[in-house]
This record gives sequence, structure tokens and C-alpha cells, in this order.
Amino acid sequence: MPAKQYLFTPGPTPVPPQVLAALGEPVVHHRSPDFQPVYERTLARLREVCRTESDVLLFTASGTGAFESAVANLVSPGEPHLVVSAGNFGERWAQMATAYGADVDHLRYAWGETPAPEDVRARLRERGAKAVWLVQSETSTGVVADVKALAAAAKEHGALVVVDAVSSLGAVPCETDAWGLDVVVSGSQKALMTPPGLGLAAVSEAAFAAVGTSPRFYFDWERTRAAQRKLDAPFTPSVSLVAGLDVALGMLLDEGLDAAFERHVRLGRACRAGAKALGLELFSPDEDRSAVVTAIRAPEGVASGEVVKALRDRFGITIADGQGDLKGRVFRIGHIGWFDQFDVATALSAVELVLADLGADVERGIAATAALEAFEAQPVA
Ligand code: PLP
Repeated sequence: MPAKQYLFTPGPTPVPPQVLAALGEPVVHHRSPDFQPVYERTLARLREVCRTESDVLLFTASGTGAFESAVANLVSPGEPHLVVSAGNFGERWAQMATAYGADVDHLRYAWGETPAPEDVRARLRERGAKAVWLVQSETSTGVVADVKALAAAAKEHGALVVVDAVSSLGAVPCETDAWGLDVVVSGSQKALMTPPGLGLAAVSEAAFAAVGTSPRFYFDWERTRAAQRKLDAPFTPSVSLVAGLDVALGMLLDEGLDAAFERHVRLGRACRAGAKALGLELFSPDEDRSAVVTAIRAPEGVASGEVVKALRDRFGITIADGQGDLKGRVFRIGHIGWFDQFDVATALSAVELVLADLGADVERGIAATAALEAFEAQPVA
């Protein structure tokens, strides 16, 4: 078993040493002056990263928990909601909204398709919805949707817009206020470079005004907002994770959000160029927006799970298999957060070795070069 471990999945992602150091600090009390400045700074930084003036509610929960807060607060039984899905996570949200009793209109695309604003318009013309539920980065397929355009279509029909930005916040632009997004949900373990365990929801005034009647307690938005405004968390937060997130957000803001977005575009380009140089076929779209995770089809005669297993066993490299029907057919390399071009080159070099071992017909010796060249190629407009 190799001693060195590499985490190249679309979440959890590698955690920088500065963040790990903060996680290792002594635990402080969440209602003490030892914690409150950290809490205050983290909440302010979250507003900056979400590009919003609204409150960003922080929960000790994974991204799904933060998303459930949106469902529990916005859905009342019997109400019409439009859920747009094109992969695993969109389908999860349709199930969740249904579980809360929403009358769900499910605009369901095949996995790997890119949702179109005209389809949202057409569905809303047929039947209005209190909210339209979108996934920005569908991690199961590598597709990053055009949330700005989709949200504009929803707004034309007066619907609230809720966005799953779990794997995209901090990696690709998500302009909460400028695009009129009412709720943006994310989690700590993706582009925010922190271990799993914190979920967040940026919530607009319009969304607060529209809360429904579903039962809720831990995830009640008003309870958390009122407590956060006094820097007095409603329940014991994971103080160590908040301390880590504070450092990670500081790193992201020091780099600059626009610089981070450009880096992710370049990383996506690098990963796609390297995979193509190997002779592999992409599953995710070959476009700049696809900057979070690259989904690659396993070559003829090779199961993607074999690639994933061999990378782990031989090199200590963890990548992700496909989900759902794509399991066994695609493998996914995540390139978000604390990630650089040499990580992409490492991942692809190892994929090359493993595929050659598995008898696949791959082009040898050029993937890393192609990736590094694509990373350096013409500046992002
Ligand atoms: N939504 C997307 C797009 C994701 O990538 C994930 C996690 O992989 C989730 C939701 C669920 O988040 P969590 O696993 O933190 O609950």
C-alpha cells in the first residue's frame, strides 16, 4: 500500500495545511469570546464568497442538510414546485421535495444533459411554481449549468430560485444577488477546502418572506438567522470546522474569487486536454464552464471501477467512479479547491499507467504534457 495519499475526488477535496493546523487548535466554547470573532469573520467571509448582502446561515451538517433546510423552510404540503434535474443530485432534490409533500413538477433530463432556460420557461408557462430548484454543478456528470440564464427564466414567472452550489461555490461564479438567486446552498468539503461537516444556505429576504408550514426545528431558518445575528449559535456548532473554514475562506479571498474561477477554468481545460491526449472520450462537456469535475468514459473493455481500484491500490490515488447508471462506465477526476495543474498531471499520469496495465489502447507519455500546456494556454477572457 503506497504511503502517500492523493485525494482527487469532487469532494471531499484536499485540505491545505493551514486549515489542518486550525482544525488542530484547542477546542473553544461556542458562546465565549474565543469563538465569537471567528464566527463573525467566517459569516462575513461566507457572504463575500456567496456575493450576497443577505444572511448566510451556517449549519453543522453536510450539504444535503443545508439543502434540506431550504426544502423544510420553503415547501408547504401541496404547493407546486419545479425541480430541474440532469443527474444524481437534481433527482435527490426532487425526491426530497416530494417527501415534504410538495406537488413536484420534475423537469427531468437524461444524466449528462445541460438544462435549458427555454424548457424552464415552457414548464412554468404550463404550471406556475413557488420555487424553481436548480443544480449549478451536477457532480455526477460534470455539467455546470448556466444558472444565471435558468434563474432569469424562473424570475420571469415570479418563482423563487434555489440553487445547489455544493460542488461549485468558490470554483465557478455564483452571483447570488446579481443573478437574483434566493437561496444558494453549499458545503464545506468541496471548493471551500475544509473537511465535510458544515453546510450553508444564503437566503434572500424574499425567501424568508415565503417560508412555509412544514415542520422544522434544527433547520429552521429564522431560528438560525436570529441567533447568528447575535453571534450566539442556536446549537453547538462544530467550532473546529468553523475555525478551519475561516482560514480556508481567507485563503480563497486572498487569492481573489475571480483568480480562483480562472484557475478552475484552466484546471478543467488541463484535465480534458490530458484525457483526450490519452485517446479517451469525455463524458462531461468539453467547455470552459465545466471546471469542477471531469467525467471520462472508461475505454472499451475496461470497467471504470477497475481504474478507480487500481489507482488506489497502486498509487494511493482516490478518484470517483460514476454514480447511478454511469457506475462502471465513467470515472471522475475532481479539480476543485486546493488543487493545481500538477495535481491534474499526477492524476492523468497515473490513469495512463493503470489503463495501460489493464490492457487499454492508450496513447503513452503525452497526457501530462497536454494537460500542462492546456493549463498555460491562452488567458481566460
Ligand atoms: N449536491 C452536489 C452537487 C454534490 O456534489 C453533493 C455532494 O457530493 C451534494 C449535493 C451532497 O452534499 P453532501 O454529501 O455534503 O450532503
